[in-house]
Amino acid sequence: MKNFHKNFSAVEIRRSSTTMKNKCGKCKEGKTKARVQTMGSGKCSKCNKASVIALRYAGIEFCQSHFTRFFEARVMRTVREFSMLARKDRIAVALSGGKDSTVMLHLLKKIGESFPMELFAITIDEGIAGYREFSLKTAVEECKKLGVPLTVVSFRSEFGQTLDSLLKKRGEARACSYCGVMRRYLLNKVARRMGADKIAIGHNSDDVAQTVMMNYMRNEPERLARFGPVAGAAEDELFVTRIKPLFLTPEREVAAYAMMKGIEIKNIGCPYAKSAFRQHVRKILNETEEKYPASKLRIVRAFLAQKKLMQEGAKKRIEKHGKPARCKECGEPSSNREERCALCLLLSEK
Ligand SMILES: [Zn+2]
Ligand SMILES: [Zn+2]
Repeated sequence: MKNFHKNFSAVEIRRSSTTMKNKCGKCKEGKTKARVQTMGSGKCSKCNKASVIALRYAGIEFCQSHFTRFFEARVMRTVREFSMLARKDRIAVALSGGKDSTVMLHLLKKIGESFPMELFAITIDEGIAGYREFSLKTAVEECKKLGVPLTVVSFRSEFGQTLDSLLKKRGEARACSYCGVMRRYLLNKVARRMGADKIAIGHNSDDVAQTVMMNYMRNEPERLARFGPVAGAAEDELFVTRIKPLFLTPEREVAAYAMMKGIEIKNIGCPYAKSAFRQHVRKILNETEEKYPASKLRIVRAFLAQKKLMQEGAKKRIEKHGKPARCKECGEPSSNREERCALCLLLSEK
C-alpha cells in the first residue's frame, strides 16, 4: 500500500487505523476503510454525510456507498457507450493480479449477474523472479473467490524461455518492449485458442491519457488510430477484439475502490524499470492535473472525439494498402506493415 500514497499526490489518501463512525444517510453503511483527505466540504454530495473521497475534476465528494455506486455506474456506462459487450460473449479477462485488472474482473463478474456472458481469466507468467509470483497468487485467489476459471500461460512454455533468461542474453534496456510485445502476442493467441470473443484489458483513464500523449510526442498517428476503448478485430479476424471497461476511470479511483471492497493488492513494482518515457509523461500529467483538475480526463475525451475522425482515415488506409498481412514466420496477424509480426521482428534482432 506504500506506493498508493506516492502515486496519488494530488490528494492524500490515508488509511484510518480506527473504524470511522460516520454513516451514509442513504444506506446507513458505516465502517469506512479508506478516507481521502480533501479540501472540500467533507460531505457526500449525495447524502450530506461524511465523505471518504473527493473528485476534484468533477467538484464532488462521496461517502463510501455513493462512491461505490458512482464508480460501478460509470463502468456500466462506458461498457454501453462503446458497445463492449454482446449477449453470450465469451470474455477473456487479461488478469495480471494488479489492482486494475482485479477490479475489472470484479465488475465484469457483477455485470455478468444480469447479462448473459461467459467469463474466464488468463494470466501471463512472464517469468520475472521475485515479482510475478505475488500477483499470480492474487490472480489465483480472486478467481477462486469469484468462481471464474483461470488459465495461466507462461513465457517459458510458449516461447521456451522466461523473460528473465531472455533479458540476460539481450540486456535489460528494452525490457518493457520485449515484455509488452510478447504478452500482447501470447494473450491474443491463447484467448483465440480458447474461443474468446473479446479480451478485457484493465487500462484505466490515466494509462489512456499517457498513451495518447506519448503517441503525440513520438509522432505515431497510426498507433493512435488503432488505439481505443474497443480495438482489434477490424484489422484481422485473428486479432481478438480488445475491450477496456476502465477507459474512463481514473487510476486513483480504481485504487480507492479496491481498498473499499477489501480487494487485497500487493503493490510490488516490476524489477525491470518501467518505460522511462511513460514515467516522465505520467509525472507531467499528474502535476498538470494537480494545478488544473480534469486535464487528464479531457485528454481522453479529446482523443475520443478525434478518434471518430481518425477512423475514417483508417478505413481509407485499409482501402489503399489492404488488410494487414499475416506474419511470414509464425502465421499470426501482423499489425505493422512488415512481412513479420512485431514479436518475430523483435526476436530476430541481434
Ligand atoms: Zn452518501
Ligand atoms: Zn510472427
